[in-house]
Amino acid sequence: MKKSKGVNIKNLSKIYVGNNNKEFKAVDNISVDIRPGEFVTLLGPSGCGKTTTLRMIAGFEIPTSGDIYLGGDRINDLPPDKRDSSMVFQTYALFPHYNIYDNVAYGLKLKKLSKDEIRQKVSDIIDLVGLKGMENRYPNQLSGGQQQRVALARALVMEPGVLLFDEPLSNLDAKLRVYMRTEIRKIQKKVGITAVYVTHDQSEAMSLSDRIIIMNKGVIEQVGTPKEVYYTPKTEFVADFIGTANFLDGKIKDVVDGKAKIEVHGKELLVPYKGEKKSGDDCKLVIRPEAVIIGREGVLKGKVELATFMGEYQDYIVKINGLDFKVQDYNPMVKEVFGEGDEVMLSFLPENVHIL
Ligand code: ATP
Repeated sequence: MKKSKGVNIKNLSKIYVGNNNKEFKAVDNISVDIRPGEFVTLLGPSGCGKTTTLRMIAGFEIPTSGDIYLGGDRINDLPPDKRDSSMVFQTYALFPHYNIYDNVAYGLKLKKLSKDEIRQKVSDIIDLVGLKGMENRYPNQLSGGQQQRVALARALVMEPGVLLFDEPLSNLDAKLRVYMRTEIRKIQKKVGITAVYVTHDQSEAMSLSDRIIIMNKGVIEQVGTPKEVYYTPKTEFVADFIGTANFLDGKIKDVVDGKAKIEVHGKELLVPYKGEKKSGDDCKLVIRPEAVIIGREGVLKGKVELATFMGEYQDYIVKINGLDFKVQDYNPMVKEVFGEGDEVMLSFLPENVHIL
């Protein structure tokens, strides 16, 4: 396999002009560096600009301004087929009248490789994606998951510097999606290829990525590993979009030795803190539902509004001073379980509190 390449995006924007001549910034001055061999996901809600960004890397969309580099070379002016990238589409985009072998071999034939070389490469890749023995079948004789494997093989066989994925698993059922994403990750790691993957599914992004690029309204909110974006979100949007979050308004009383003393709902908490805020500043605390300890003793007093048994955890909504607080108490079989209307106390470990 050829060396994989890094992707560098510099001040990239895409403005669409609508029928009414009104401008719309789908992508607004984003910059990000993707390392060779890295698996990076563009994640965000519908309309945030992730597909437009991917299509600009592929060459299907022309940037309004900014630059895109692949392996250090500026590729803005190259047409898609001259870029060292391959795209795997949501709809697979296979040729229905070609069998699997010919679908995978198509690009290599265009490149005019020798018959022997084509046979070797196609057979290796078909093997890699787990479709050995199916070479003579046609796309309509395959399941959705198998068709997506063919699409992946067809992209991989070209040995591109970067592999681009546009929501490739959206058409599969939930179980198969989970299975296929581990397959994609395994294959990508084995080949060591750079991958840029678009999804709006956060669990897909968490399980696949070395780093996640979280987009909102055309801009990048945060770039980080799954752990970084989950435990140390930079914005309320990221905290809310990745997993579930509780927010508490607080006031910083003091910051000493990497710890902040915070006043919350009339109580004082001491929380690890490395940020810029100082005494007197308002802040927001982010606490994940699984980090909340529910019991008869604690810091914040509340009333159980909703209690639901979910199997692996007991799910609660607890009202604290008019605020809905989400709590997930794992392994409820060995815990005291509260019912609706019960008065409870909530607490959390200082390490589990993140300050915005
Ligand atoms: P989704 O998950 O729904 O595909 P997305 O984050 O991938 O969303 P984009 O497809 O990048 O979003 O679109 C970003 C915004 O740009 C959207 O508001 C969309 O309506 C708009 N847009 C996309 N393509 C065009 C176009 N050709 N002309 C005008 N507006 C467009």
